[in-house]
Amino acid sequence: MVTKEDVLKEAAEKGVKFIRLQFTDIFGVLKNVAITVEQLEKALEGELMFDGSSIEGFVRIEESDMYLRPDPDTFVVFPWRPKEGAVARLICDVYNPDGTPFAGDPRNALKRVLAEAAEMGYSLNVGPELEFFLFHTDNEGRPTTVTHDRASYFDLTPVDLGENARRDMVLTLEQLGFEIEASHHEVAPGQHEIDFKYSDALDIADKVETFRFVVRTVAQQHGLYATFMPKPLQGINGSGMHSNQSLFSKGKNAFYDAQGPLELSPTAYYYIAGLLKHARSYTAITNPTINSYKRLVPGYEAPCYIAWSGRNRSPLIRIPAKRGSSTRIELRSPDPSGNPYLSLAVQLKAGLDGIKRRLTPPAAVDLNIFAMSGEERLAHGIDALPASLEEALTELSKDSVMKDALGEHIYQRFTEAKTKEWDSYRLAVHQWEIDEYLATY
Ligand code: ADP
Ligand code: MG
Ligand code: MG
Ligand code: MG
Ligand code: MG
Repeated sequence: MVTKEDVLKEAAEKGVKFIRLQFTDIFGVLKNVAITVEQLEKALEGELMFDGSSIEGFVRIEESDMYLRPDPDTFVVFPWRPKEGAVARLICDVYNPDGTPFAGDPRNALKRVLAEAAEMGYSLNVGPELEFFLFHTDNEGRPTTVTHDRASYFDLTPVDLGENARRDMVLTLEQLGFEIEASHHEVAPGQHEIDFKYSDALDIADKVETFRFVVRTVAQQHGLYATFMPKPLQGINGSGMHSNQSLFSKGKNAFYDAQGPLELSPTAYYYIAGLLKHARSYTAITNPTINSYKRLVPGYEAPCYIAWSGRNRSPLIRIPAKRGSSTRIELRSPDPSGNPYLSLAVQLKAGLDGIKRRLTPPAAVDLNIFAMSGEERLAHGIDALPASLEEALTELSKDSVMKDALGEHIYQRFTEAKTKEWDSYRLAVHQWEIDEYLATY
């Protein structure tokens, strides 16, 4: 626990001049309100007001005054130093003028579900695996889909631009308090993954926001563009954000049971069952873009069927081999375009629902689901994930438990915006249609 006094002291010691107060809109887009160090004390008291009506998905115009309450635990000084004074950031919760938590704040939504878990005696640990692409920019600095790998093929110098950029990303993240466990080139050209150590869910959601921002910034410093778009290139693997998760109870991993089947506890099975049960509806949140559904197709290591396995990597849920305190469930569908607060809120809520209702998961499927015919899948009772954002939204609308995780305000705003997004996509005439039909009809 970092106190307000600690923050003020560190800011003074490190010569901090500017502080960015950060929070996200419902789409997970990072928002910043910049203040000078002279305003820091007032900000820490939660007395700084901002106009929420300028933030998409946040408020109606008539309730535009919002208060930011910085979380002292999130104070970090950015390692890149401008000429005059350092820049720091604080992640904030958003409050109404009357002092109640603002219903449109995704961080508050996650905290609500975490409080529910705490009441049941659990805390959630999460280890996300973020994948992303590094692309070149054109002469005007606009992002392209040309990868550094392909470009370096033509380069005169033998250095891999992407590897250099990734090394810098790792160093910067470490300076910001990340414990990096692994960083590697992924399957697709230009694709990378950086993994950091698991931590409690709120810290991880904050870290995912920071991660995306740092990776984009460092890429830019290397003349590259980083994208977390789930499927930027047809025909090659997309970018996911596998969600490794475990519940802890009294300092012990609640999913581990040396005597249980596969050394998993009843709690683990209930949780798996909950994640499977609500999969068709929380996908709208864990995979919230039209493009997300172009990743969830057969043939590219992404899941499309609702099943779990202790062994193979093709289903929605995999149980990695580690046991003891590392016992965990890996949900493989989420992608990095999601709002990490909402994504974790719905995942946890689904798992908790499994525990509350003592749901039993269907039998593990250790066969290759992709090799099964539709009839075989039916015989195994294996359902598919939604094939489009539209289908996912329809499923979400039917699931009161998932809607409860988001809260009415966020659910309404999210659905409104996403339905618009779908309509705009539906109305567009795509290049594919031109190629396919123009000459035929
Ligand atoms: P994969 O084998 O799927 O590629 P990685 O090794 O890339 O997995 O990532 C595993 C992630 O799981 C890391 O972020 C790690 O910190 C995390 N992890 C380890 N133990 C736990 C746990 N008990 N609960 C949640 N996450 C965990
Ligand atoms: Mg990995
Ligand atoms: Mg690995
Ligand atoms: Mg990977
Ligand atoms: Mg994984």
